[in-house]
Amino acid sequence: MTYLIQGDTGDWEVVIGLEVHAQVVSGAKLFSSAATAFGAEPNTQVSLVDAAMPGMLPVINGFCVEQAVKTGLGLKAKINLHSVFERKNYFYADLPQGYQISQYEYPVVGEGTVTLDLEDGSTHEVGIERLHMEQDAGKSMHDQDPRRSFIDLNRSGVCLMEIVSKPDIRSPEEAGIFLRKLRSILRYLGTCDGNMEQGSMRADVNVSVRKPGEDLRTRAEIKNVNSVRFIMQAIEHEAERQVEVWESGGEVVQETRLFDAHRGETRSMRAKEFAHDYRYFPDPDLLPLDINQAYVDTIEEKLPELPDDKKQRFMDELGLSAYDAGVLVAEKETADYFEAVAEGRDSKLAANWVISNLFGHLNAAGKSISESPVSAQSLGQLLDLLKADTISGRIAKNVFEIMFETGGDPETIVEEKGLKQITDTGAIEAIVDQVIADNPDQAQQVRDGNDKTIGWFVGQVMKASQGKANPQVVNKLLSDKLKT
Ligand code: MN
Repeated sequence: MTYLIQGDTGDWEVVIGLEVHAQVVSGAKLFSSAATAFGAEPNTQVSLVDAAMPGMLPVINGFCVEQAVKTGLGLKAKINLHSVFERKNYFYADLPQGYQISQYEYPVVGEGTVTLDLEDGSTHEVGIERLHMEQDAGKSMHDQDPRRSFIDLNRSGVCLMEIVSKPDIRSPEEAGIFLRKLRSILRYLGTCDGNMEQGSMRADVNVSVRKPGEDLRTRAEIKNVNSVRFIMQAIEHEAERQVEVWESGGEVVQETRLFDAHRGETRSMRAKEFAHDYRYFPDPDLLPLDINQAYVDTIEEKLPELPDDKKQRFMDELGLSAYDAGVLVAEKETADYFEAVAEGRDSKLAANWVISNLFGHLNAAGKSISESPVSAQSLGQLLDLLKADTISGRIAKNVFEIMFETGGDPETIVEEKGLKQITDTGAIEAIVDQVIADNPDQAQQVRDGNDKTIGWFVGQVMKASQGKANPQVVNKLLSDKLKT
């Protein structure tokens, strides 16, 4: 599974660390009561604090603190009871304060872990270095007017969690798995919606290369990549670029680079600034954030079941394979859907139907589980019909097709289309007799000991009954009539 780049001087290993900015789910901003809804008219969700009017005082939003602590607990991380907000000074048009309120030396969350489930069924732990809270900046809009740029401050002051991983990631694939897993944990927790298209989760990627066994070499940082696929592509291109630089006798410099998705390359944006360039200092408008253990414990008690625990429970209590359990818990919506289908039913049957049939149809239709035309309740009803032998497995698949196309209810579909399984032996026997009578040559072949032909007869009878004959009854009748 090791990912190596073959260079002229031998193999190179890739070392990756991610800094993920995750927007906190909260109705109000980190230090003001302005709203945070995505897609609002520009500059309609801006308080005087967010616009950095002179003399305004930031007031911390307790709910954002709770969300950050909750996230820390979900990342199995150390919660720091004492943390400090500092000013990170830099000039940018969309940052009216001239600084971002962030946490630097004393973040609210310390070291934690994210467990990756790899393709081959093994796991890989990626360390979390820290999580800190900070304000988001506004947004410059360059595409509204040919000559002027505009600034939308709606995002200014929205609470972000910056989650920094340790450099424990070794391939573009692992980076993708890490991001998906982190996003899944945040969604289970309800602390970030993980919507990368809307920018509520974006990543800065630190990449360096080295010969296996060497110490770390200089890294470059790729800024603000906003899709898992682009992040994986950016890593691949950047690692290959660095190998070329080293092998041609050059030196990789610490800098900030930009990923151009159209050209599939990274290019230099600016020389990397170092922490001292920002002249961090504690924000004199804000007291240190001191919380107590009882407060943390209260949040911990309310934590929902997270994907790793859910996966283990699906394996231990429902008897699912590690693979099936992993697939089902990967997204909270999927796990919820599956649990609703499996409730009071055969778990493995439910898992098979959700994974093979439902996911297959959703993928083909390009739909997500929340857009599924078949509700968990309807799928459950279909499984009940199957279990009660009202319909055969083959008919169930056809009914599912119709349900997926029309959103219809399985019982009504079975009723209206007359798909009920024929279990009445007399009715099936009549069809069996007819098929045998119509095919005397094949019947003779079976009598002569050709067992394959009996399968052909089963097919013919099923066809004649439009798939409605109970297959067990058909098999038994054919054996009785042809083999004795
Ligand atoms: Mn940041």
